[in-house]
Amino acid sequence: MKEAPRPYRIPFNRVHLTGSELAYIAEAVERGHLSGDGAFTRRASTLLEETLGVPRVLLTTSCTHALEMAALLLDLKPGDEVIVPSFAFVTTVNAFVLHGARPVFADVRPDTLNLDERSLPALVTARTRAVVPLHYGGVACEMEPILMTAHRHGLTVVEDNAHGLFATQRGKALGTFGALATQSFHETKNITCGEGGAACFPDEETAQRAEVIREKGTNRSAFLRGQVDKYTWVAEGSSYVLSDLLAAMLDGQLEKLDRIQAGRARVTAAYRQALPAWAERHGVRLPAVDALRDGNDHIFHLLFASEGDRNRAMAALRAEGVMATFHYVPLHSSPHGRSLGQGGAPLPVTESVAGRLLRLPLHPLLSEADVERVIASVLRSL
Ligand SMILES: *Cc1c(COP(=O)(O)O)cnc(C)c1O
Repeated sequence: MKEAPRPYRIPFNRVHLTGSELAYIAEAVERGHLSGDGAFTRRASTLLEETLGVPRVLLTTSCTHALEMAALLLDLKPGDEVIVPSFAFVTTVNAFVLHGARPVFADVRPDTLNLDERSLPALVTARTRAVVPLHYGGVACEMEPILMTAHRHGLTVVEDNAHGLFATQRGKALGTFGALATQSFHETKNITCGEGGAACFPDEETAQRAEVIREKGTNRSAFLRGQVDKYTWVAEGSSYVLSDLLAAMLDGQLEKLDRIQAGRARVTAAYRQALPAWAERHGVRLPAVDALRDGNDHIFHLLFASEGDRNRAMAALRAEGVMATFHYVPLHSSPHGRSLGQGGAPLPVTESVAGRLLRLPLHPLLSEADVERVIASVLRSL
């Protein structure tokens, strides 16, 4: 017998084009300014500075490159250590290792899946230079104790805010707590230009050092502002400037960010309404809600009671055409993480959650019927 075709395929993520992106890209081409720091870049940077309440934002070719800029700003010496959560994306740590750091992996909190601030003091040594909190799914880390520990030991706090753009903690935007913060506009993030990123700076002096790193080690940015009369090689750097073509796409997204965010919030609200009873019955945990933290609906995950349940549910959803995905292979147990030899300290929460987590499709193009189909599939997945 012939198998019936799968009736629906619900992708995990799809980019929501809000309408002006293509016109803005065409405008950038017509203007003839295709390299970086043109009119669209200025507009996007200003919009981000004003919305986040941070004095300086530099657009970069990716969040990974913004993290590399952070590593170069640290001027790492051999043996210097950087503390990162093991439950993180590869480049959260790789950017620092690439520029000479030894990674020290921290465990995460079982509720928010963010770097466990209580474990932080014990990981600090005389060689520690920085700590890189990641706001998982746009839910804020416990920034106050992290900043206190950092202050006590003279560590730089670099926020990997790839997930957390426009989320807040007690009304303060994520990405404005650390000495700098990095953003991602990769296709998988809430606001996108395909590939892109940004670095946010609370102080002008760090921003000016970063400008040089971002412009191939030159003072070209100061030259373009008329502050020096020729530009030249002044430090080590690389090429991290985003093309104005991509900034044009980013502008189109940023000016409609409320619409994009509302589309995501609608999906999250439907999941939150439909799933609690099922979750309780099967010992599944939904993302924490917290009055002090305003999220940005970047991720909606289910934390199952066991890895077996997670794998069964993932297979059941996929069999019905619903793309649900896991997160992350812990960095400390990854092949390269192991080869860097952390000394085998166990990270029990990270190891436990990584096997039990499943992310549901979440993007503004899911129709109400799509969301209902996802929910129906989840309800019969265990
Ligand atoms: C997506 C992501 C990055 C990398 O972003 P790119 O812009 O693709 O370099 C870094 N950290 C985290 C936590 C991410 O989710």
